[in-house]
Amino acid sequence: MLDRFNRKINYLRISVTDRCNLRCRYCMPDNDPLMLNHEDILRFEEIQQVVAVAASLGISKVRLTGGEPLVRKDITDLVAMIASVPGVQDLSMTTNAVLLDRFALPLKKAGLQRINVSLDTVDPEKFHDITRGGGLHKVFRGIQAAEAAGLHPIKINCVVKRGAERKDADGVAAYCHQHGLEIRYIQQMDLERGDFAVVEGGSGGDCASCNRLRLTSDGKIKPCLFSDLGYDIRELGIQHALEKALGNKPEKGSVNQQNLFHNIGG
Ligand code: SAM
Ligand code: SF4
Repeated sequence: MLDRFNRKINYLRISVTDRCNLRCRYCMPDNDPLMLNHEDILRFEEIQQVVAVAASLGISKVRLTGGEPLVRKDITDLVAMIASVPGVQDLSMTTNAVLLDRFALPLKKAGLQRINVSLDTVDPEKFHDITRGGGLHKVFRGIQAAEAAGLHPIKINCVVKRGAERKDADGVAAYCHQHGLEIRYIQQMDLERGDFAVVEGGSGGDCASCNRLRLTSDGKIKPCLFSDLGYDIRELGIQHALEKALGNKPEKGSVNQQNLFHNIGG
């Protein structure tokens, strides 16, 4: 499907939960964030229906994100349900990999094709600090398990701060080089202030070539990460919500004062 600026929209990012087992400083607020109630979170059947309607309209790429997708109960069942939808050609996930050693093989068997792992530093103390308590060794174990399971390619998402020294990013790049992994840099963004940009060797932030729609864990189709627009599939029906999002996708991102990364999915 084409939007009004002639961009081909073929990619749906689905946030399957707003919960996470880490609390990265640039993603989660300092204080305890308000979490969604269980009944507001889409059921697997609802997510599968959204994917089916979206695929009938031309979506062929689907990525599961969050919060942390691996903390959603029975996530491998959801992967299998989405993989079975005709028209879904590329099914991937973005994860912090803390639980990936347990999930890599079942995910692969369920139909997940590839995976992106978020990793901003290979220094265990810095990792502990950035994620407010995470264990880097678990991430390394998760990446190994993904390699062994044949989730290929494994891409590493590395958030870099504008203007900051690149020591951590360089360390991650060296680790990727050693292990034959691809690295993608992402500029640290601020949704509320509309601070986003393309980074060298990175992805995202390029509005002219944006091919995405998003589904939040409580059922809003969002046409843009940097916008307050969102269309509720339970209120409007799936097809109408998708069409509204497509029809109102802004030419460029501006600000999003309603979401944080953990509840829209990066
Ligand atoms: N928990 C999973 C993970 O961390 O990979 C998936 C969800 S997370 C919100 C998705 C991506 O958003 C991660 O790669 C994360 O680094 C990125 N992200 C979170 N907050 C961000 C921010 N303020 N600016 C840029 N990227 C951000
Ligand atoms: Fe969790 Fe991912 Fe946000 Fe970190 S970036 S707090 S791992 S959702």
